[in-house]
Amino acid sequence: MHVRRLNLRELLGTVLLEAEVGETLHVLCDTFPGRWPGTPGGDAAAAYLERKLKEYGLDNVHAERFPLWAWKRGAVRIEAIAPFARPLCGLALPNTGSHDVEAEVVFADFSSLEEWRAIAPTVRGRIVFCQGSARKEQRLPIGRAQKARMAADAGAVGFAWVSEREGRVLLIGSVERDVGDAVPCVAVAREDAAALRRALDRGRRVALRMKTENEFREVQASNIVGEVPGGRSGEPLVIAGAHYDGHDIGDGAHDDASGTACMLEAARALSRYRDDLGSTLRFVLFTAEEMGVVGSRVYVDQHEAELDSIRFMLNVDGVGLSPDGDEYFHLPLGGPVVDRLREELSALQRPIVVEQGTMPLSWDHEGFALQGVPCGSLTDPVGGGNRKSWAHTSADSLDKLSVDGVRRAAGHVALILALVANDSAWPGTRLSSTRVTETLANLGIAEDIRRARDSSWRKLVIGR
Ligand SMILES: [Zn+2]
Repeated sequence: MHVRRLNLRELLGTVLLEAEVGETLHVLCDTFPGRWPGTPGGDAAAAYLERKLKEYGLDNVHAERFPLWAWKRGAVRIEAIAPFARPLCGLALPNTGSHDVEAEVVFADFSSLEEWRAIAPTVRGRIVFCQGSARKEQRLPIGRAQKARMAADAGAVGFAWVSEREGRVLLIGSVERDVGDAVPCVAVAREDAAALRRALDRGRRVALRMKTENEFREVQASNIVGEVPGGRSGEPLVIAGAHYDGHDIGDGAHDDASGTACMLEAARALSRYRDDLGSTLRFVLFTAEEMGVVGSRVYVDQHEAELDSIRFMLNVDGVGLSPDGDEYFHLPLGGPVVDRLREELSALQRPIVVEQGTMPLSWDHEGFALQGVPCGSLTDPVGGGNRKSWAHTSADSLDKLSVDGVRRAAGHVALILALVANDSAWPGTRLSSTRVTETLANLGIAEDIRRARDSSWRKLVIGR
């Protein structure tokens, strides 16, 4: 037996039998919808989280502030000017600046670099339309921000991310700041994009005017931190993270009030077992993830001296769509920790698929993974008979979640943290940068790794 002392079934019961999660979700989603950095709701949510961690008895509870260029949404107007004149339902993607362009439209359907090479020569001087996925591009090799950059680099003058959702539900998500400075990047309703595509299919010339007015404001952003001390001082750390910010157009319930509620609940439950923990648990609630994975990258940058002592970083993003189904636990660096966690969780009969997988890096585990720190993200599965996520839309509200599902995920978070903290033969160690490069390259997510390494988040942090 690797795990000592702590009664894991009792710990799980501590989470499953209590009502805290529903209250936390209600406050985060309904009282502080969106929680966008630099807004009153974002600041109030940060204060609420700090207060709750103190109330739950954590030590060293504090806000780690940093100056951020917070993007602020302004007016947008997108209209077809040929072959017909009609307004399009659309919104600027976060980090888009102010622009006014007129150009012809080209649709670029691609999911690999090879396919892109065939299309790239056709996009110069045009507005590029790409199809969007309502889930965070799980298992897809090239995501929104990367496609926008590729389009801009190839000479496109605009980028449109077409929602896969019906009903003129728009799908948004950030682009890199310099891409948004260079060209207008917008979300467009699937129905409106389909009308343009029909005109193109009939051989018509299709042109748009896109006008966006947005700004960046200097604000103080806060990651919220608290600890449950375990073992002797100087023993290793386990980091537990989730981002509390959501998109400005919705409530950010699934993405990621659900993960934040899991973290608060695991913190509440585990603080009662502080004498039984072999490692210190540090809970970090990140901000500005939706602006471009900013808060967690700042955290890793500010805590570089501690990275060797981190056993594991557990991130939770998007859980609780359903009260059953197998959760998905993705560990980008793979290695022996995958087998260890799979064995321990299956021995406890928890329905969690644990694997290295091929999900992109653009989650809050990204900064840790690039530094070789063993890490993973727990999330809902996609595909199959699972309910769809409304993440990144105005419809991401609490009614789409199962409170029981979030409570179950919170129980799993508490279990995983206890397992890692108390495993006397934990096999996770920090990888060298050469090993990180090799390991990530084998995942076949080259464009995503390039983006992550490019440190575009620094362009949003003042003084970096
Ligand atoms: Zn998220």
